[in-house]
Order: sequence, then C-alpha cells, then structure tokens
Amino acid sequence: NVSPEQDGLPSIETATSSDPVKQRRAEIARRRSFGIIAHPDAGKTTLTEKILLYSGRIEEAGAVRGRKTQRAARSDWMKMEQERGISVTATCLCFDYDGYRLNLLDTPGHQDFSEDTYRTLNAVDTAVMVVDAVNGIESQTIKLFKICAERKIPIITFVNKMDRPGGDPLRVLTDIENVLGIDAIPVNWPIGTGRDFNGLVDRLANEVIKFSPVLRGAHEVPVERAAMDDAANCPFPPEIMDHVRDEVSLLEGAGVPFQNELFLKGNQTPVFFGSALTNFGVEQFLQGFVRLAPPPSPRMSDQGLIDPTNPNFTGLVFKIQANLDPRHHDRVAFVRVCSGRFERDMEVTISRTGERLRIPRSHQLFAAERETVDEAYPGDVIGIVNPGKLRLGDTICGGKPLQYRGRWEYAPERFVRLRCADTSKRKQFTRGVTQLIEEGAVQLLSDGGTTLHEPTLGAVGELQFDVVQFRLASEYNAQTTVDRLPFQMGRWIETPNFDVDKYTLPSGSRVMYDQTGAPLLLFADDWSMDYFLRRHPDVKLSEHRPEV
Ligand code: GDP
Repeated sequence: NVSPEQDGLPSIETATSSDPVKQRRAEIARRRSFGIIAHPDAGKTTLTEKILLYSGRIEEAGAVRGRKTQRAARSDWMKMEQERGISVTATCLCFDYDGYRLNLLDTPGHQDFSEDTYRTLNAVDTAVMVVDAVNGIESQTIKLFKICAERKIPIITFVNKMDRPGGDPLRVLTDIENVLGIDAIPVNWPIGTGRDFNGLVDRLANEVIKFSPVLRGAHEVPVERAAMDDAANCPFPPEIMDHVRDEVSLLEGAGVPFQNELFLKGNQTPVFFGSALTNFGVEQFLQGFVRLAPPPSPRMSDQGLIDPTNPNFTGLVFKIQANLDPRHHDRVAFVRVCSGRFERDMEVTISRTGERLRIPRSHQLFAAERETVDEAYPGDVIGIVNPGKLRLGDTICGGKPLQYRGRWEYAPERFVRLRCADTSKRKQFTRGVTQLIEEGAVQLLSDGGTTLHEPTLGAVGELQFDVVQFRLASEYNAQTTVDRLPFQMGRWIETPNFDVDKYTLPSGSRVMYDQTGAPLLLFADDWSMDYFLRRHPDVKLSEHRPEV
C-alpha cells in the first residue's frame, strides 16, 4: 500500500524546458538530498559504495574502499582522509539515478565527529537509517535519530546484513517501533535469512524478486521477477512461496498502512531489506528511495518560510573544512543551495555581516577530485573556497538578505586548555584560534577573564581537538599542547537569571560561559549531573544554547 505517485509527490518533468522558471522547477523536483545515519559498522560505507555502483558513478565496487580504516590511530586521521579518497568529515556525493539528481551528504559515523553529523543534518531533506539486521537499533542510531526527529526529517530505513545468520526482520521492525517510537512499514519483505537470503517480496508491485550472487558484490546482481500469483514463472519453489505468502499476509493483517504525510512528518518510516555486501536489495531500495524521498522543501528563515522555487538565490553554510587540498591549505565552506539558482561568478551577501562576496570558484566534490560547477539548484551542495568570511550557519543571498534557522552548537562533552609554548608564535596562535572558533570547529569557554592567551575549549568529540591542533600547526605554524580538563558533560542553563552562588555544585563541577556569555555547567560525568538535577529540580539544563 505504498504508492508515492498517488500521494502527490511531484512527477519529474523534463529539465530541458526553454522557460527558465519551468526549468528551475523541474530541476528542483528531481533533486533528492539526503544523509545516512547509522551506528558504526552497520554498513553505511558499503551501502554508499553500492548506491554509487547502481547509479553508475563507479564501475566496480571497491573504488571507495580504504576510506574505512576508521578505528586507526587518531593522530594521523588527516593523512588517512587523503588516503581514503573520500573525506571522513562531511562532503557531498552528487550523482544521477533514474532521472533524479541525488546529493548524498556524508555524515561521519565516528562518534567523535557527531557534531559534524548533527550539523550536516541541517542541510538534508531525508535521512536514510541503516540498521544491522542482527544488532537492531544501536546507541549511535538512537542519538542521530533523535536529531532527525527534533527537526522532523523524514527517515527511510534500510535493514542491512540480511545475509548474516540471526537476522530477524520482524524483530527489527519491533525494535524500531519500541526503541524509536515510530511506525515501521515494510515496503518489501525478505525471502530467506542468513545464507538463504536470496530474494524479496515487492509489496508495492505484488511481485517476488530472486537474486543471483555475484562475486564479492563487485557488480550489479542479476534478478528474476514474477507476479506473486504467477506459479508458472515463479523463481522460488512452492514450499518457499507458501511460507512467504503466510508471512506477507500476516504483515497485511497486523501492519499500519503507509501514509506519506506521516512519513514526511517523521512519524512513519518505510523499511527496505537487503544486504549491501551482496548487493541484494540495493537496487530495490534505490528505486523506492527516489520515489519516496521528498524534493527540497520550504525552509524557515527570519523572513518566514522560503520556498525553494523562490527566484532569489539563497544558500546555507553547514560545514567548514580545511585542507582538502594540502598544497593550498585552503578552507572550504560547504553551502546547501536552498532557493534560486547558483551561478559561477555570482556575487552574494553574507546576511550576518552584510558583506558582499564574489564566488569565482565553486566545487562539487566527488572523492578526491574536484569538479568546478557552473550552476547549482536547491538541494545541491557547492564548496566555496572560503576567504575566512564565512561561518557555520551563515546564509548567503543573491538578493535581499535573510537568515535561515538551524542548530549549530551542541553541548560540549570534552574540554581542554590549549597552550602555545613558543611565545614568538603568540600572534599566529591567537589569530588561528579566533578563526577556528569562528568557523565553529570548537567552542571557546571562559570563566569571565581574558581567554585567548590559554583558551579553554569545548567540543562534542575528542577528535575535534586534534583537528584544531593540526590546523594551528599546518596553517598558522603554531605548535600547541593540550591539557585535558576533568569534565565529561556540559549543559547550558535554561533557568532565567541563574545565580550560581545559590546552588551547591557537586565537587568537580563548575560554571563557565560561552562566546555569547551564556552560562554552561560542566560536570565530571553523567552521574554528577543527575545528582545535581535531583537536588535542584528547579534548574533546567539544555543540550542546546537557549535562544536569546
Ligand atoms: P560503516 O561503519 O557503517 O560504514 O560500516 P561498513 O560499511 O564499513 O561495514 C562494516 C563491516 O560490515 C564491514 O566489514 C563490511 O564488509 C560489513 N558489511 C557491510 N554490509 C554488510 C552486509 O550486508 N552483510 C554482511 N555480512 N556484512 C556487511
């Protein structure tokens, strides 16, 4: 009962119209911009690779390989980034499938880069949730799911690793419903599990699909299809079909029907089954994905909702990354186009400062190579070489300036004091730290006094500090050391006029202030925070900076 066409999803018009307005609308309608959320090891990298294989972007699986030496030594992750080809931090893969233009925004699975992932989710229209069929919903998936739910991002689920013994499709559905609290609607249903997994029931078309394995899943797998009731052409023996029919009729009896509206609000998730390793189900997932995932939708700004078809170019800076090209030490600001049409050599206004910025070079990124783009439409991501004027969360506009809403700061959970022993490098050090803080790589905290001399920094993940040290050394020639501070938890204080002297803080806790002067409570651990909250039920703490 999933039938996207009846649910008013835009059909793709041909994008060759001579009318520029029509052309722009057609381009927007065929865009699907998404990110993948998953617990490490669920198969995000493998699925990405297979999506690229099926969309013809790579000829043989294995090309993206190497990216994934993830748990290797931390200090050389930057080097690894180049070796892996595709960056560990957010970039965008752009490719076509079946007439659609897909933009896959890379969301680092490593939990030390959670902040990057959280922020990237400001720029996607859909999230694909990859779940391990055996392990079910895991901790990092829950965290990322919450971010999507908060922002009402529709979620499409791919239950991966159906080829592993012990995977139980019903249990995964129940897990999604119980742990995440949303309805899971299977779009297809696996035939066989573990080693016997070799087919799917396409519940939309009421067909069965049988896969034949291909060595290492390096190429597309051959499929046979037949209508559910076409016994003569059925690729499965009758005893298997009897079982499959039983399972499917059970689903039909017990399940909630799919409703596009509920999916778009994030209350239902359509579920696809498969194995990224063997490619079984990848194509069926892609076909379903492009039809279900919404095109770019209106976005909230300080001037109200802005429709993507609005002729004025607007874009949102959701990620700033340095050193993609080590020879140039450049910084790239990743911009999601939100409305209008981007053209090369365009001049834009940075809404926050009112400054004008000409964009002579912009790039679309695929693996390590860069392609210059001449035009981009809503849903696309462009990389702009950033002269240091752009910050995370900035809106750039071709016409009248406006500012998009979004969440860019997350409560830090790791804290360090940064030092630069070489006094002759003080100036570079201060300049570098100021720049990195402005970009949003880390947050500067203070206890009221001057801070840039030996700044206290906060971040969600430890690796962000490695990034800071690496960049200070490579871009500003300032060698630094860090002292870890004994806090594992930072929370903003939502209670108005909070007077710290009226409260007893647990030992090992303290108050600090962020760049805007908002107070944060730093605790040694979760336990200490819970203890404080139990003693002071009137105090409200938040993972987000309170709006001023
Ligand atoms: P990521 O951390 O989510 O990016 O996970 P990867 O794609 O790197 O996969 C983690 C491990 O699971 C690798 O060893 C993969 O080969 C393996 N893997 C990925 N997909 C499947 C699958 O469908 N079936 C099986 N059996 N293993 C898989």
